[in-house]
Amino acid sequence: MPRPIQAIIHPEALSHNLARARLAAPQAKVWAVVKANAYGHGIERAFAALRAADGFALLDLAEAEALRALGWGGPILLLEGCFGADDLQLCERLNLWHVVHDAAQLNWLAARRKPRAHRVYLKMNTGMNRLGFTSAQYRAAWDRLQQCPAVGEITHMTHFATAEGPQGTTDAFDLFQRCMGDLPGERSLCNSAALLRHGHHPAEEVLHLAGHAPRNANPARATANEAPQAAILGDWVRPGIMLYGGSATGLAADAKAWDLHPAMSLVTRIVGVQQIAAGASVGYGGVFTSQQPMRIGVAAVGYADGYPRHAPTGTPIVVDGIRTRIVGRVSMDMVTVDLDPVRAAGRAADVGSPVLCWGRHNGVELPIDDVATAAATLGYELMCALASRVPVHVE
Ligand SMILES: *Cc1c(COP(=O)(O)O)cnc(C)c1O
Repeated sequence: MPRPIQAIIHPEALSHNLARARLAAPQAKVWAVVKANAYGHGIERAFAALRAADGFALLDLAEAEALRALGWGGPILLLEGCFGADDLQLCERLNLWHVVHDAAQLNWLAARRKPRAHRVYLKMNTGMNRLGFTSAQYRAAWDRLQQCPAVGEITHMTHFATAEGPQGTTDAFDLFQRCMGDLPGERSLCNSAALLRHGHHPAEEVLHLAGHAPRNANPARATANEAPQAAILGDWVRPGIMLYGGSATGLAADAKAWDLHPAMSLVTRIVGVQQIAAGASVGYGGVFTSQQPMRIGVAAVGYADGYPRHAPTGTPIVVDGIRTRIVGRVSMDMVTVDLDPVRAAGRAADVGSPVLCWGRHNGVELPIDDVATAAATLGYELMCALASRVPVHVE
């Protein structure tokens, strides 16, 4: 029998979440962001469920080739554009749209001759200060692109630094609009956080109109004093984390408020049980000491599987359908868990008991964001960190 750990990918959840993204921005086209191997879910595994998107956005050229090999003939966008001049040939061969975020990329393009072969996303830096032309440089970059014979349509693009936090998108969006407001071309601005902050929430509209809920009852929503920004949705939205059922803010309540379903579950089993006395410690370093006699379970999952090593005592985990906590230090192949709440609920809590590390399985849900929050990280990181040694099953 193989080690009992398994990741389960839920294609229905991916399709459902994509439909939620569409509902939030019904006028916009949707890039399904599938970088980092579809946030750890696997591009091949996610493709069929996400092919109702208008395009796929990613940044690894090998992933773009993989999508073409899967038969995707629609748009593909390279979110970081080309890494060298040679990549432009690949863009022509595979018909890839690509971001232009700095002068070197512009120079490479200016040297290409194939007429109108390149669809370009020109990126403005609106405060993230990673990639993109500043608002002062932007129009000159646009002018130059316009003059490149190899450049066809140009889309205006930015990426928000603070869409998921209290600062919101107002300043960045104002800057963007002031700079390019009068230029022709499509626009693309919203990641999941911005989309869920400013998009249409059908149930919320109904509740609001009926006078039952303030518009910002949902914690991920624009606050009352933030100007409504329907225009922010633009022509193309770029949801990533929400497609996988995770929250951009890190709060499981946000994913729930939008009825997002987890697309990945990590399951395993209890492979050992210890009855310990009061005062006994558990695991490396003895960082957890029990105050009373306790039943400890050993789950077959560790940091070599992608479970976060820095998850402290108290991090939630589900055993036999009952939510309990991990205790002691996460090790490479094992996590120790408190079985007393599971026993108290009348469950076996024994060797062979099923364990849910995150996701939704057999009708029980443990939001990945709850685990991530306890471990001081985000669902994004946990999904992407799923280790290659974990067998993946699609159901
Ligand atoms: C990753 C990424 C996204 C998607 O972000 P989420 O927070 O996962 O929705 C959108 N746009 C760009 C440029 C990205 O790099």
